[in-house]
Amino acid sequence: MQVKGLCHLHSKYSHDGEVSLNRLKESLKEKGFQFLLLTEHIHDFLPEKIEEILKECQSLSDEQFIIIPGLELENKGEHFLVIGINELAREYNSLTQFRSSGAIIVWAHPYKIKQDGIERLQIDGLEIWNSCYDGKFVPRWQALKLLKKLRQKNNVLAYGGIDFHRFSHLGGPFLVVDVEELLQREILENLKRGRFFVKRGAVTVNSDGTMRPGQKIKTVLLSPIFRSLIGLFKFGSKILAGLRISPPRKIKEAIRSKL
Ligand SMILES: [Zn+2]
Ligand SMILES: [Zn+2]
Repeated sequence: MQVKGLCHLHSKYSHDGEVSLNRLKESLKEKGFQFLLLTEHIHDFLPEKIEEILKECQSLSDEQFIIIPGLELENKGEHFLVIGINELAREYNSLTQFRSSGAIIVWAHPYKIKQDGIERLQIDGLEIWNSCYDGKFVPRWQALKLLKKLRQKNNVLAYGGIDFHRFSHLGGPFLVVDVEELLQREILENLKRGRFFVKRGAVTVNSDGTMRPGQKIKTVLLSPIFRSLIGLFKFGSKILAGLRISPPRKIKEAIRSKL
């Protein structure tokens, strides 16, 4: 069967997350999702907190919805999602350690794309679509090109994440995974095997980064436009903040929920 879930979410455990895990689960369940891949900022908490997260993910997971615990780490100025952590995570301090414990490593929002030594990175996936940076409508074209380059050496797969911090971030790409049963182990295994695709509306990106020709053209054309719009929105917010003008949050959120 196929199950639908979201990747790259921050709850209140991250300093910039606004929604509790419980509320997040309820809201995603209502929207027809069956799992979420949590990726909390690790620098926000003490290692002891990891145990608390693991416990909460487990107690909120049931036969209808699974929360897979994970982190977002910084390494050489880039961000990496670590999907599927266990109790030993508090002792790890390198991506390699996490990876050998079975976690999936995804290079998040690769927008400072450096070409040096990229092929040496031991990663399982690339976030070719992060709706916070790239918009909700199409993946990032340059990230798809980077994926193609990485795939010449390693089996790096295409992931789509929403970088959720608040409800206006919903509405971006989701993952559809083939599983036998709705279990954490099944979801992780099939993600590793590439038995999934990234989807939003009519846009589908296969786990190997391929798309239908028509959608590819749409992506090449629209990707820079949406990125510019988001850049403009962020720039405008900064300018207003500098002038100490704060537009009503409702308006800001309403604009952001559309982009
Ligand atoms: Zn990040
Ligand atoms: Zn993030």
